Amino acid sequence: RNYRAQIDYRPLSMFDSVNENRISVCVRKRPLNKKELTRNEVDVITIPSRDITILHQPQTRVDLTKYLDNQKFRFDYSFDEYANNELVYRFTAAPLVKTIFDNGNATCFAYGQTGSGKTHTMGGDFSGKKQNASMGIYALTARDVFRMLEQPQYRRKELSVHCAFFEIYGTKTFDLLNEKAELRVLEDKMQKVQVVGLKEEQAMNEQDVLELINKGTLMRTAGTTSANANSSRSHAIFQIILRQGKKVWGKFSLIDLAGNERGQDTRDCDRDTRKEGANINQSLLALKECIRGMARNSSHVPFRQSKLTMVLRNSFIGEKSRTVMISMISPGIASSEHTLNTLRYADRVKEMGTDGSGEATPIRDEELFIPPSLDKSDDEYDLE
Ligand code: ADP
Ligand code: MG
Repeated sequence: RNYRAQIDYRPLSMFDSVNENRISVCVRKRPLNKKELTRNEVDVITIPSRDITILHQPQTRVDLTKYLDNQKFRFDYSFDEYANNELVYRFTAAPLVKTIFDNGNATCFAYGQTGSGKTHTMGGDFSGKKQNASMGIYALTARDVFRMLEQPQYRRKELSVHCAFFEIYGTKTFDLLNEKAELRVLEDKMQKVQVVGLKEEQAMNEQDVLELINKGTLMRTAGTTSANANSSRSHAIFQIILRQGKKVWGKFSLIDLAGNERGQDTRDCDRDTRKEGANINQSLLALKECIRGMARNSSHVPFRQSKLTMVLRNSFIGEKSRTVMISMISPGIASSEHTLNTLRYADRVKEMGTDGSGEATPIRDEELFIPPSLDKSDDEYDLE
């Protein structure tokens, strides 16, 4: 297809807050990859404008007049396959950098199916021989943290930058900056959660942070034959911590979540894998419920339902905390079922999140430019 979206993602100055929402939810579509292209897979995702995502969901052949069901969603931002990491960053994590300088906590999640682009977006490119962490959201965030530190009003505060990097695998937690040492998560009487023994490395500049990202990312995939197989089963949490002396001034948590399909594909696997899947499923459900609970200012938010939400509890609560979720989607028709699950999950998070009203802004017809090649039932679709 020659269709190319011309989307106007408004140019913004670096620290302009695009979106004052406490919780925002975005979607990012990656381009079709080589494998999908060789299989001649059809791209079933259209992003007609900066906030709308349409999934042209293939239907069964029962009703021959209707091959496609267009599922439409509105998010804070929808990024198409032409958006690079820098652009995605600018509208998602960048506005939250200021939050941690104002004594708040910021959290950015990458959610989605394995292979949809979570690690590419967060960590940078670790797929080939050359590792390039500098273009991921971890590194871009660090870059801006150091730029902010140069501002006179913050320079005066004598803040220091520290990083931690750990992984939650099932019910266990491992330190990625310390040889995967197992960590304990404890809750004190004040319900303050602590990851005991978590190593924090001070970073003097962006380069130091890049080295820590590389070190942790390699540690995450070490000891397995297939890199993807292992990392898709764990949640990785990279934190940039601002300190004034010993006191925490603000904290940015950047999270590369486990593949969401892990909780669903339970066919043909052994007991351990099923248990692992159930665990991932539970943590992602708990995450959704916690975000929804916070948006509603609910007095009971189920943080304790998973390790992931327990560890993030301190970051979520507090008036100054802000959260952004980036849901990654694969464009290929073979992924459409997982993609629909991802979009529905994001939609549920957003529903309460964005303005708390639970009211969606209706999508008008004129907002939906669907390229002609997809707007009809057409034999191009190989549904077998
Ligand atoms: P995940 O972490 O969600 O399992 P990855 O980030 O490892 O997925 O992405 C899978 C592959 O697709 C990688 O080779 C990655 O480089 C590539 N990829 C992902 N997103 C993009 C993108 N937006 N543009 C180009 N390549 C991408
Ligand atoms: Mg990954």
